[in-house]
Amino acid sequence: MLAHELRARLARKELSPKEVAEAYLKRVQALDPGLGAFLTLNERVLEEAERVDPGLPLAGLPVAVKDNIVTKGLRTTAGSRLLETFIPPYEATAIARLRALGALVLGKTNLDEFGMGSSTEHSAFFPTKNPFDPGRVPGGSSGGSAAAVAADLVPLALGSDTGGSVRQPAAFCGVYGLKPTYGRVSRYGLIAYASSLDQIGPLARSVRDLALLMDAMAGFDPLDATSLDLPPRFQEALAEPLSPLRLGVVREALSGNSPGVERALGEALEVFRTLGFGIKEVSWPTLPLALNAYYILAPAEASANLARYDGTLYGYRAEGEELWPVVEATRGRFGLEVKRRILVGTFVLSSGYYEAYYARAQAFRRRLRAEAKALFQEVDLLLLPTTPHPAFPLGGRPDPLAMYREDLYTVGASLAGLPALSFPAGFEGHLPVGLQLVAPWGQDERLLRVALAFEEATDRAFLRTPLGEAF
Ligand code: GLN
Repeated sequence: MLAHELRARLARKELSPKEVAEAYLKRVQALDPGLGAFLTLNERVLEEAERVDPGLPLAGLPVAVKDNIVTKGLRTTAGSRLLETFIPPYEATAIARLRALGALVLGKTNLDEFGMGSSTEHSAFFPTKNPFDPGRVPGGSSGGSAAAVAADLVPLALGSDTGGSVRQPAAFCGVYGLKPTYGRVSRYGLIAYASSLDQIGPLARSVRDLALLMDAMAGFDPLDATSLDLPPRFQEALAEPLSPLRLGVVREALSGNSPGVERALGEALEVFRTLGFGIKEVSWPTLPLALNAYYILAPAEASANLARYDGTLYGYRAEGEELWPVVEATRGRFGLEVKRRILVGTFVLSSGYYEAYYARAQAFRRRLRAEAKALFQEVDLLLLPTTPHPAFPLGGRPDPLAMYREDLYTVGASLAGLPALSFPAGFEGHLPVGLQLVAPWGQDERLLRVALAFEEATDRAFLRTPLGEAF
């Protein structure tokens, strides 16, 4: 059952919050040992289910939360040994808002350490497996959240997206994932990776379910200086009639894709044509180079953000008396990929190299943004694949640069700060294929409205539950 259907049954008292929580917990206990989607379960969830006010709009709806979003009193590791025992004394705004509406946090999901990766294999604890194929990755870095939703261990989940971490795992696991316009969801309580890019986003098995979460958690927050005063109106937008729009297919994302991705794109265009959309090939010339800029800017910001993990403030602290050896041994606990990012980030910011790398990447980012803005004079939405191919095998990307190339189609919207949605649009063999819609700045609602039209026109043909459903 989809989250909005479950919510209706809870509202009609056909199911109680406790029954729902018990059913999902049972599935987690049965299936998660084979998947590794969860790092921590909320041991108080049944108690919370009993106490929740049934009059609240999301009363009793379970949500899984990526483990880089802090939850008061519930361990939050960011997938890192440095925060292995960290119990946050405060709540992220997104979580506080969901809980205030009656949603229940079922548990915390696995991720690449601090969100750095595209497969969830960089988790310090264990890799997560793809519910469609246990020999393959679920994508990353929100791989735990995507796998949990695809396996229906939970009806809804939160991820975070810096360069594709909600959209790419959503595509690999056959679910929906939204990266909102930068600033629409508060970053307060999201453990920082690259602050100018980080956004919390929802994952679910239907467009309506994404809308439920967005209406609950988006909107201005005085605790986040980059928060936008743009009140969410997602469910309202889904009820409005759809006027056919101009869809731009991004030329730079048309070659080098796997056969299943190519087929899904062709078929989706047919569906949009039938819905009355105008279709046009457009060019976003800087897109193929967006990866280069992203992998300068994101590590630069990460190197500054991760300086705080030195053993003197909170989190893991190595044994010892002398300050410097303690700091060194503490930071030695970072995983290899995190160390690599800190080194690259420190290098591109260093005197003598700053202009050659960081400043140029910033200038490039402005150009990419301007190009995207100009494109939206011609079309109302962009369409491109989320990834060039479906989920790859576990251990299949041992070269870090090959792993970075997985983000080819997702980093563009990230650098431009634009809203982007990955939706299930086909299969390649037994593996799901996702496509991506990108909207103008602040037009997140439009993305969902169009994706809903696609979902309805295709009769949810691309939604499968490989491991069955809770309800
Ligand atoms: N794979 C990208 C990276 O490693 C994106 C990760 C993310 O969005 N958090 O930086």
